[in-house]
Amino acid sequence: MKPVQTKEWTMNRYKCPKCKGNQFTSNPNREKEPCIYCRNESTVLMPTLDEKPGEDETKLRKFLNAFKQSQRLKMVVAVQLPTGIELIINSDNLDKKADYYMNAYNSDLELKNNTSIKIVDYMFI
Ligand SMILES: [Zn+2]
Repeated sequence: MKPVQTKEWTMNRYKCPKCKGNQFTSNPNREKEPCIYCRNESTVLMPTLDEKPGEDETKLRKFLNAFKQSQRLKMVVAVQLPTGIELIINSDNLDKKADYYMNAYNSDLELKNNTSIKIVDYMFI
């Protein structure tokens, strides 16, 4: 469902990552304002008015879930480096590799030690 649009205003949904409370407003600049429920000061503008299943999942969580649901035969990870994109293909010790990504990368799939390095795509077979 797209944001409801009328002539004068658009309704937006902001979500508090802390208490998961939804707040609705026509104000498009409400992001980072305190949550009306818990006063947490980082509500996030959501793309849809309706809650979508899995919308609270981080990129890292989606990555790990995709791996767990695969047959764990092959892991293909595209990593954005300052010099370009590198494809990393693994077919053994995949559980260990998944552990490595879980520890070394943050919830947005950026390398914790150097956030200019990030996972931009992946495929598990
Ligand atoms: Zn809140």
